[in-house]
Amino acid sequence: MSEPILIVENLKKYYILRGSLLQVLGLRPPIYVRAVDGISFTVNRGEIFCLAGESGCGKTTTGKVIVRLLEPTSGKMLYKPSPDARRVLEKYGYKQEYVDLAMEYPKEVDKALRREIQMVFQDPFGSLNPRMKIKDILEEPLLIHNIGRDPTERLEHVMKALEEVKLTPPQEFIDRYPHMLSGGQRQRVAIARALILRPSLIVADEPVSMLDVSIRAEILQLMLEIRKTRNISYVFITHDLAIAANICDRIAVMYLGKIVEMGETAKVVDNPLHPYTRALMQAVPEPDPRNRLKLRKLDIKGEVPSAINIPPGCRFHPRCPFAMDVCRREEPPLVEVEPGHYVACWLYAKK
Ligand code: SF4
Repeated sequence: MSEPILIVENLKKYYILRGSLLQVLGLRPPIYVRAVDGISFTVNRGEIFCLAGESGCGKTTTGKVIVRLLEPTSGKMLYKPSPDARRVLEKYGYKQEYVDLAMEYPKEVDKALRREIQMVFQDPFGSLNPRMKIKDILEEPLLIHNIGRDPTERLEHVMKALEEVKLTPPQEFIDRYPHMLSGGQRQRVAIARALILRPSLIVADEPVSMLDVSIRAEILQLMLEIRKTRNISYVFITHDLAIAANICDRIAVMYLGKIVEMGETAKVVDNPLHPYTRALMQAVPEPDPRNRLKLRKLDIKGEVPSAINIPPGCRFHPRCPFAMDVCRREEPPLVEVEPGHYVACWLYAKK
């Protein structure tokens, strides 16, 4: 097992909802939206770690907190910097092996850490500036991080990045605008923009969900190749367990801001234990009926509740066909039920 590059400990992200005048004036306690409610996981170097779940489960918020587009409410995100970032950190007296991304750092350190962790967004059209040529889109991060001595050297970096994402010959693409590319080509540019800074960790938020099915496999294959050549780690965010099963090494299934099941992909996919994961797996279309999971069909009721009104006890209990009294009272802990396979459910935890 390779070393952990990111250790997330009890991460929380709450939003304050200011509904009434009394709350705005501070005369009533604020209402919190508990988007991410105390999750812990580790991402190893070169690993593809998946955060899976339905819309509103907190997976995208987690990704944004890791790349520091959002500030966490509490918790730790311990990150092992690359030698380049370590040199900058040591200049400012940070000598520890892991640095907490949830803390504030001097500007230069902050910039070095931001360079190490990049994000690829779901919508490649929305994430690329439509007024900029591909060459300029890819040169922008180089300018921000002072990479390349002159325009010629920066152009070399741009050409190499385009070649790496298989937009070849790169001369054909550098002067185009995003609207002159197909969806798949735009997502390749978005990946090239993340790669050009040589990150150690990429947070990919539903990177193929807006692409045609025929293009999805190509982009996923590209991500796997990049992982192999660069030993990059990914936090791969998806609602689609079929995709997660094909690309990820480990999966964490989230429900209403919590991880309910986590483990190696083969274990979670072939032997899902949490009733919610079982329901998700049963919803995955299987072209060959002989390969269907041999699980009893679960009757999951209703919709995901609001993150403002999280049910007490196990937050899945209003929908769970196995709900017991204890489920309505106490939140189940995430326990290891077999080596490396964790489940938060009273069916497996000791009361
Ligand atoms: Fe269902 Fe209870 Fe397990 Fe929650 S803890 S998933 S309600 S059995």
